[in-house]
Amino acid sequence: MSNSYPFGFLDEYAKKEIRRTTLKAVALPGYQVPYSSREMPMGRGFGTGGLQLTLSLLGKEETLKVIDQGSDDSVNAVNLRSFIEMTCKGINTTTKTHEADIIQSRHRIPEKPLREDQLIVLQVPYPDPLVVVEPSEDKRKTLHGEADYSRLLVKLYEDIVKFNEITISHRYPTRINDHYVIDPSPIPRWDVPKINQSKALILFGAGREKKIYAVPPYTKAEPLAFEDVPFRVEDFTDENSQRRACKRCGCTNSFLDEFIDSNKGEKVYQCSDADWCDEQGGSNITEDRTPEVTNESLENSNKAGGLAHG
Ligand SMILES: [Zn+2]
Repeated sequence: MSNSYPFGFLDEYAKKEIRRTTLKAVALPGYQVPYSSREMPMGRGFGTGGLQLTLSLLGKEETLKVIDQGSDDSVNAVNLRSFIEMTCKGINTTTKTHEADIIQSRHRIPEKPLREDQLIVLQVPYPDPLVVVEPSEDKRKTLHGEADYSRLLVKLYEDIVKFNEITISHRYPTRINDHYVIDPSPIPRWDVPKINQSKALILFGAGREKKIYAVPPYTKAEPLAFEDVPFRVEDFTDENSQRRACKRCGCTNSFLDEFIDSNKGEKVYQCSDADWCDEQGGSNITEDRTPEVTNESLENSNKAGGLAHG
């Protein structure tokens, strides 16, 4: 297969179009730029939007990291990485965040702060945060153009009335550069503040919905909230007001996945970011990660929360 396809799998015209779309997205922070998303040899919904961005932007001798919910070893990440390795001869891959030029990710932004010379590509299932309040794309475009997000704010307010807090766990609507509100992809709220004034360029690719959008470096990104009900990230304190620690590396300032220890039947916590966890623990770590349970638990919390419809 590798011999019969050009570098990057896509033809040159397709890659040029995606790069042009990316430039437009960078010029209009948060604006969803349409593009002619190509058929890829995998189902839509498996990260084809992110994949097309990565294939168009990755150059020979550059280094790529692919993660799925913080893990380099989960099925989606492994498959995407091996496809890119197969179709982009001469690139390097890594699991270390600091070694990567491009990071393609599903559902997480790495814990380690990214640099100006790095780029992160997020896979997006649903690009438009207004889809929950307005079914017509035409009308949504007008609302975005006028920066009219009042109906979205009403939706958040209804949450507060019903549950006393904003219950969105993933895909938290975030206003970029004081104008467009984006769906930041199904990252947890924990990762949303990392978008604000990020040193790295952040690109979002929605293959099925045929949209690319961007948050350029050093751009304001503000989660929608109210003065009296401010945005907050996930709370990892236990019943004794102690911050929970990762059971593997002991870290107390990372995003934790919760799962049930099948032997003891009790809840345990582990860093969601595998590279971060390895680095914090250093050579003291003997224990393997628990990727299967981790993914399942996050998948379930995804279904439970968010403005997600469908
Ligand atoms: Zn850890």
